[in-house]
Amino acid sequence: MQQLQMVDLKRQYQKIKPEIDKAIQNVIDNTAFIGGPDVKQFAGELATYLGVKYVIPCANGTDALQIALMALGLQPGDEVITPSFTYIATVEVVALLRLKPVFVDMDADTFTMNIDSVKSAITPKTKAIIPVHLYGQCVDMEPLLALAKEHNIPVVEDNAQAIGGTYTYPDGRTVKTGSMGIIGCTSFFPSKNLGCYGDGGAMFTNHDALAEKLQMIANHGQKVKYYHEMVGCNSRLDTIQAAVLRIKLSHLDEYCDARRAAADYYDKAFANHPNITTPYRAPYSKHVFHQYTLKLEGIDRDAVQQKLAERDIPSMIYYPVPSHKQNMLKEFTDANQNLAVTDMLQDKVISLPIHTELTEEELSYIAKNFLEVVEQLRK
Ligand SMILES: *Cc1c(COP(=O)(O)O)cnc(C)c1O
Repeated sequence: MQQLQMVDLKRQYQKIKPEIDKAIQNVIDNTAFIGGPDVKQFAGELATYLGVKYVIPCANGTDALQIALMALGLQPGDEVITPSFTYIATVEVVALLRLKPVFVDMDADTFTMNIDSVKSAITPKTKAIIPVHLYGQCVDMEPLLALAKEHNIPVVEDNAQAIGGTYTYPDGRTVKTGSMGIIGCTSFFPSKNLGCYGDGGAMFTNHDALAEKLQMIANHGQKVKYYHEMVGCNSRLDTIQAAVLRIKLSHLDEYCDARRAAADYYDKAFANHPNITTPYRAPYSKHVFHQYTLKLEGIDRDAVQQKLAERDIPSMIYYPVPSHKQNMLKEFTDANQNLAVTDMLQDKVISLPIHTELTEEELSYIAKNFLEVVEQLRK
């Protein structure tokens, strides 16, 4: 058995090497490194895949979130509702733009933002809500969108961990994650479900005017070269990354299926264990398992990680410190705020290896050893 990894990009590459090598060579041969034809083609293909009108590529997922908030024209001090339990980028861009992050608590089962908590956090100053489809599980969007609509607040989806996932509305309509908010954002960081071979990101929207604005902001505020209409930034997806992404997009559904199959294996192996809660499968969404994240009860999690490492099994804590406890965001936290579920998740979650290349032998080795370690450490 090969060395186990949280994500195995090497084996994935080996399977698509001829296609990838050819696509990269083609970009080099044409030397259209920035703004080459693959960028537009990829944007079009991803728009079709997601069922949205526009995909605007940019340099990374953090930029996508920043540019989205800039395009909404928010003013310093405006409040933006976000979960605290997320990758820091979601909240960091809010603070960077001198907006005020307002943290809401999580749902203990789904690991996504609690809608009641959002409801109580809304004030007249709330100018955006950023649901994060954490670990690949879609937020229950219908009630969130209804609430946002009632208060006329735009919703920006952070879809960096859930691309390829779906959400089914109560009326049976099924759509792709990232296509429901006024803007959806994603990251093509290599380890993401749709990852490139460097940095990359994109924004999605169905709104003509907003698409134009996002495009302009990503390109120094210009529509016509050298005529700058607003302050923007320089955020581009380079052509080599777009060429890689075109190939990987054609495999995305199969990659999501492979992740789900691995999750199914783990779920079965850990079912009904008194100390382990396997990930909740919401009936309204198709989980794409960017992470396979369990809750451990009554067990020393550090010891579990250490014993797994002794058996060459990597594991991770996503995330060891939620945003509202980060020094970076000190000025936005309120000592009286109660984020009990977030605190609970901080203490109990653990993520096991999940990726597109896990074999049955590897899954069996991980599951068997994980159960043994848990058994040894049960109090
Ligand atoms: C990865 C990630 C981002 C940021 O993407 P980068 O491409 O690394 O800038 C934002 N939000 C979430 C939830 C992420 O997982």
